[in-house]
Amino acid sequence: MSGTDTVVQHVRVVVVGSGFGGLGAAVRLRQEGVTDFLVLERAGSVGGTWRDNSYPGCACDVPSHLYSFSFAPNPDWPRTFSGQPEIRAYLERIADRFQLRPHLRFDHEVQGARWDAAASRWELSTSQGVYTADVMVAACGPLSDPSVPDLPGLADFPGKVFHSARWDHDYDLTGKRVAVVGTGASAIQIVPMIQPKVERLVLLQRTPPWIMPRMDRDITSAERRLYRRVPAAQRALRAALWSIRESQVGAFVKRPGMLKAAQALAKRNIDKHIKDPALRARLTPDYSFGCKRVLLSNTYYPALAQPNVDLVASGLKEVRGSTVVAADGTEHEVDAIIFGTGFHVTDMPIGSRITGAAGRTLGEEWKDGMAALRGSTVSGFPNLLFVIGPNTGLGNSSMVLMIESQLNYLADYLRRLDASGAAALDATPEAQRRWNAEVQRRMARTVWNNGGCRSWYLDGNGNNTVLWPGTTAHFRRETRSVDLAEYDLVQTPATAPVTV
Ligand SMILES: Cc1cc2nc3c(=O)[nH]c(=O)nc-3n(C[C@H](O)[C@H](O)[C@H](O)COP(=O)(O)OP(=O)(O)OC[C@H]3O[C@@H](n4cnc5c(N)ncnc54)[C@H](O)[C@@H]3O)c2cc1C
Repeated sequence: MSGTDTVVQHVRVVVVGSGFGGLGAAVRLRQEGVTDFLVLERAGSVGGTWRDNSYPGCACDVPSHLYSFSFAPNPDWPRTFSGQPEIRAYLERIADRFQLRPHLRFDHEVQGARWDAAASRWELSTSQGVYTADVMVAACGPLSDPSVPDLPGLADFPGKVFHSARWDHDYDLTGKRVAVVGTGASAIQIVPMIQPKVERLVLLQRTPPWIMPRMDRDITSAERRLYRRVPAAQRALRAALWSIRESQVGAFVKRPGMLKAAQALAKRNIDKHIKDPALRARLTPDYSFGCKRVLLSNTYYPALAQPNVDLVASGLKEVRGSTVVAADGTEHEVDAIIFGTGFHVTDMPIGSRITGAAGRTLGEEWKDGMAALRGSTVSGFPNLLFVIGPNTGLGNSSMVLMIESQLNYLADYLRRLDASGAAALDATPEAQRRWNAEVQRRMARTVWNNGGCRSWYLDGNGNNTVLWPGTTAHFRRETRSVDLAEYDLVQTPATAPVTV
């Protein structure tokens, strides 16, 4: 902020982002009686992930009755795994129902945030001016900044290029030759949707995923009526969905050997749909089930078996004119390239924009790997709380459960901050170190670290700074309340006495 910038508004709490995390934080703040807060959102509407990912076939892969807020059950989910339009509409309704609209500021991109030690507050430069806040909640999303590989020749490609999270709905794929790069969660939803309409689909696969059948179906009107009339029935369903996923965690975290049976099922899924032995071999992973995110689909393999699909078992190396060239030398001329190459996860862009008490950015602080205390606070960054911070991701259950745990922590943080009389709380380096040492100790036995794959859960040093190595119940317990022994109390420096 330059000396001439005026502050648009000062608030008690500023929330950055309006996806599940930011909206959840806003609801929780209101429930806690905090009304002096703003939600700054760079886009023009709420929804985060579910606003940005509008590609054909986009849907959740955790059942909707679990992938939604516990405090706002939706008896009208249309399918067991609802699609992006329904999830986005649900989040819009959350903004209305919980009276969040007056707090929302759209088209406000946070370009920088600096801890002002003299005033004990965060100073945020946004695309619409400067805001200040006592407490900042970063709910910028773990999967919100698309990652597109920097490939030779890509800039000169004469056709259409876009990322799955920035789908160009004005571009008609009908009759086109299309390269899809990547075989992650988004790509496997896209491929079956576009395969029937394109002339040729070239799928560039670096590593095949393990894919299980998707138990997706319409939720009948009778079921919906039941959930509307008997909310306890919906709660019971949610509890059952939750328990099943909780019971699976041990296999991923402590006893990967137990995943062998699931791997055999996933192998049978390939064999059932793919009759060509060579294609089958290319689609069969050479690493353990669960090491990368397990995907769900009934339509992906059948689509790949169609004659207009070429599966290139190699990553994209370069683009030469309108030809995509794979690392194995295979060449295909295409009209469009769609990147299903994921997001900046372990190098989250907001990191380089947040500057802490010592004048260092979070990105600098995390150059050897992301780390926080209880996935929420970072030493040297007073009164900054993450929603979905380091090591809070899940491999097999609903992220909304983790978000709600972090909202409990946020609520208790504000209560204790008020009660302490301090201007800010700052996680001690020792508490943060202890927490992360324990997380990494538990991580050492997981299939994510030992399954023989290289996934987006791992950072450049091979450390898993993304996932939580435990049950959601365990994380709930760990974030129920703030332990003040883990924090230094920061007092506002006394203002110098004025001599007359
Ligand atoms: C295609 C897809 C499917 C998924 N399916 C599931 C699923 O089935 N189950 C599951 O548990 N999880 C799923 N996820 C993970 C999903 O990201 C989380 O469940 C959840 O939606 C994250 O919410 P969030 O609010 O933390 O982040 P987001 O939804 O990403 O929201 C972050 C918001 O912050 C805004 N923002 C970012 N930076 C700035 C800035 N500098 N200034 C202002 N605003 C900013 C963004 O515009 C965005 O609106 C999926 C993710 C993707 C991409």
